Amino acid sequence: MKWDRETLIRWDKENFWHPFTQMKVYREEGGIIFERGEGVYLWDIDGKRYIDAISSLWCNVHGHNHPKLNKAIEDQLKKVAHTTTLGSSNIPAILLARRLIEISPEGLNKVFYSEDGAEAVEIALKMAYHYWRNRGEDRKVFVTFSEAYHGDTIGAVSVGGIDLFHGTYRDLLFETIKLPSPYLYCKENFGELSQTCSEDLLMKLDEVLRARRDVVAVVMESGIQAAAGMLPYPKGFMKGVREITKKHGVLMIVDEVATGFGRTGTMFYCEQEGITPDFMCLGKGITGGYLPLAVTLTTDRVFSAFLGEFGEAKHFYHGHTYTGNNLACAVALANLEVFDEEKTLEKLTPKIEHLNRRLKEFWDLEHVGDVRQLGFMAGIELVKNREKGEPFPYGERMGFRVARKCWEKGVFLRPLGDVMVLMMPLVIEKDQIDEVIDVLKGAIAEIPVL
Ligand SMILES: *Cc1c(COP(=O)(O)O)cnc(C)c1O
Repeated sequence: MKWDRETLIRWDKENFWHPFTQMKVYREEGGIIFERGEGVYLWDIDGKRYIDAISSLWCNVHGHNHPKLNKAIEDQLKKVAHTTTLGSSNIPAILLARRLIEISPEGLNKVFYSEDGAEAVEIALKMAYHYWRNRGEDRKVFVTFSEAYHGDTIGAVSVGGIDLFHGTYRDLLFETIKLPSPYLYCKENFGELSQTCSEDLLMKLDEVLRARRDVVAVVMESGIQAAAGMLPYPKGFMKGVREITKKHGVLMIVDEVATGFGRTGTMFYCEQEGITPDFMCLGKGITGGYLPLAVTLTTDRVFSAFLGEFGEAKHFYHGHTYTGNNLACAVALANLEVFDEEKTLEKLTPKIEHLNRRLKEFWDLEHVGDVRQLGFMAGIELVKNREKGEPFPYGERMGFRVARKCWEKGVFLRPLGDVMVLMMPLVIEKDQIDEVIDVLKGAIAEIPVL
């Protein structure tokens, strides 16, 4: 197909409906059209270079165009790109399942593949529901949290709690019991993420589970409500949820799609809480940001409830065309090897500390209302007036305007509303972190003081 720069830009606006994008604005302003990448850098079709400060939407880990990851795909490609796993198997999918179990919290030893984070959650929801059915119990309600985000398919939206994204579909969603967002609840009622707040919230959960005998599972993101604007939980909160769900015999689904694969400083955030949930959902960083792949990990106990004679029809009637895709599994396996070979997590610890030090500088800026961090994930919240806690009007798109300024200076960002998100590839170097911080600080400082 023949194209030049101008036709490319025109066709992008004419034919391509972009996700989470107001296309009227996109057609007026356009976006960056990327052409290639190397390490933490991306280049657009005009040859302009950017630092990929959001890891291409939170999934790149070891940089773009990584020789070892490239080679894993090339080697697999010479054998076969895709074979079905519905009742048959393939080598990389078997090896990856084995390896994931080795590095996951003790007790998670069954792996179910899919392609995206939303599917991994959707699968956990269906499995949990089906688990009780197979055991002859009629349970149908999930306990969820306000401000949660688990993806955009209808089941994942049902257990989500971001009104702006999810409110429209209210009538299509199944029943849930919603607890408050831990971060917002603690800030409002306790002023901080304290142990007392954590205990207070856990008491609420305990009351709910005592009152209702039809709860399938408690569903939560791990460590932080990322998509809501990087809202961390109080330390120990998830451990408390694990204890209470165990006490009441309710399942616990933990969504590590954003936090998995090193983002919080450990391979999975669950490790920091010392817990094993009944389900752990992984996606994003699993292939190092190369190909779409997700997994739902679960326990022998859940798995066993689906075993039976064929005629009993107890099995999990769920699968996707590309479930356990050979290329995706091959690159995921290589990504885990790179974690060991390049000592990714060991090298990350000082970078997290460096990020923490530099993030403090944002408090000096007039329009910064809050700065939040969990490991290597950070959010800087912009406000119109800090004293009054007054946000910018939604229509002003302040976060987006600040991001655009950063693009001009060679830093690629995408905010969550007015929260500037930093989710840099784990391999980024200290001086590159400094460049990102300096550019972002400069862009925020340019917002006029009213
Ligand atoms: C991104 C995300 C999802 C959805 O993953 P997709 O691959 O976009 O479907 C689910 N849960 C969390 C916590 C996420 O950050």
